Amino acid sequence: MARRLLLVLAPLLLVAASGPPRAAADQPAPQVDLQTQFSLAPSVWLPLLAAPATGPDWRPPDGPRLAWPVRARLSQPFGCTGFGLEPSTDACAVGFHYGIDLAAPMWTPVQAAADGLAYPFPDTQLYGNHVLIQHQAGLATVYGHLVGLNVGWGQAVRQGDVIGWVGSTGNSTGPHLHFEVRFAANPYDPMPYLAGSPPDPFALPAGWPGMPPDDFYGRS
Ligand SMILES: [Zn+2]
Repeated sequence: MARRLLLVLAPLLLVAASGPPRAAADQPAPQVDLQTQFSLAPSVWLPLLAAPATGPDWRPPDGPRLAWPVRARLSQPFGCTGFGLEPSTDACAVGFHYGIDLAAPMWTPVQAAADGLAYPFPDTQLYGNHVLIQHQAGLATVYGHLVGLNVGWGQAVRQGDVIGWVGSTGNSTGPHLHFEVRFAANPYDPMPYLAGSPPDPFALPAGWPGMPPDDFYGRS
């Protein structure tokens, strides 16, 4: 396991070494055992991570504060969707979806929804390879099921920076981005924080298998 972990982390360390300046370089990674923390939900990770400092005068910008992270089709909404692969909660016996799903071909670029500090988590289960970005004022965004990660640990990113690429890693039935918005580690429907409709998807490549089977609109 340790060997596998090193193997998957090695490319990330290279990316981190050659990437832009790391604002959080003086902040060590949280003191957790990566082996046992694998496949834990962002609600476990988020409180451990440093967020950008928010001064007493800081105010969120007017209007929606997040940009769409990907050119894609909304394929599953937030909430109690009843899709069996999602976890159950007290309010939802089966299938509570903590984010929205945006279906797009493999390797579609995924962009930071706002400025912040990014943290990559290589994983084969649940969220798959995912990136967390901590923004100002307790806001965080999560990007799941990525095929590739493009940020180092604690790397400062700007809105629009490519942080990874759409994939189908982890608990996923087809290529899509699982996108979450969290305040103080609790999930909220991302839609009110996003401006307008998602940008038109890229033209789909020949032979693309189509929407994942959990497609919200495509289900019969
Ligand atoms: Zn999802």
